[in-house]
Parts: sequence; C-alpha cells; structure tokens
Amino acid sequence: MADVHDKATRSYNMSRIRNKNTKPEILIRKFLFKNGFRYRINVKKLPGTPDIVLPKYKTVIFINGCFWHGHNNCKYFKLPETRKEWWKNKIEKNIDNDFKKQNLLREAGYKVIVVWECEIKNRSIYETLIDEIK
Ligand SMILES: [Zn+2]
Repeated sequence: MADVHDKATRSYNMSRIRNKNTKPEILIRKFLFKNGFRYRINVKKLPGTPDIVLPKYKTVIFINGCFWHGHNNCKYFKLPETRKEWWKNKIEKNIDNDFKKQNLLREAGYKVIVVWECEIKNRSIYETLIDEIK
C-alpha cells in the first residue's frame, strides 16, 4: 500500500515540475505574441499564479491539464483504478482551489480565461481566445 502511495505522490510531483513549461502553454504564448499581445508569465503576486497575464486587457489565462484540474466530460480525465478515492480527493481539491483563485481574480477585476489542454490542438480555440481577450 505504502509503495503505491509513494508512486502516486512521486508521479504527482513530477507532473508539477513538468507543468512549469508545458508545451500547450508555449503554443499559446507563441500564438499571443505573434498576434501582438504582450503578456507576463507566472505572475506570483496574483492569486493562483496565473500562467499568462495580459496587463493591457486585465485578463489572465490558465492553461489547465485535463487530468489534474478534472476537466468535466473529457476523455483525458479518467481516475486511475488504483487508489481511486485518493485521486478523487486530490483532484477535487484542485478543482476547489481553481474555483477559489478564479473568484479572487474576478473580484480583483480580472477577466479569467481557462484553456484546457485538450483544446490546444483544435485550431478554432485560438480565434475564440482572441475574441475572449478583447
Ligand atoms: Zn480536456
């Protein structure tokens, strides 16, 4: 049992590290830059350290991994069969945190946009994103 827990924690931690410069995030950044948007990344003074902040538009963008942030009805969000309850609690806690930090940002006058990892490959997401920012 302890071994499974350690393994789960380890892969969790590893994915946290990987999350620092994930590919979807880079794709979105490149796209924004190319379209003339200027942004800051990982702004720690804002609630939840948003992935991308567009000061001019007072908009923040989170690029969420479907598994870790529990993307509803998404094929990439499937709880592992082992230690299902443990994972369920963990993901629910993440969802709760997301909800709280997004509310704090909205209260501070920011527009909050969430881009899901599974949406990145869909070209239409980029046009939608521009509309949402402006
Ligand atoms: Zn998804």
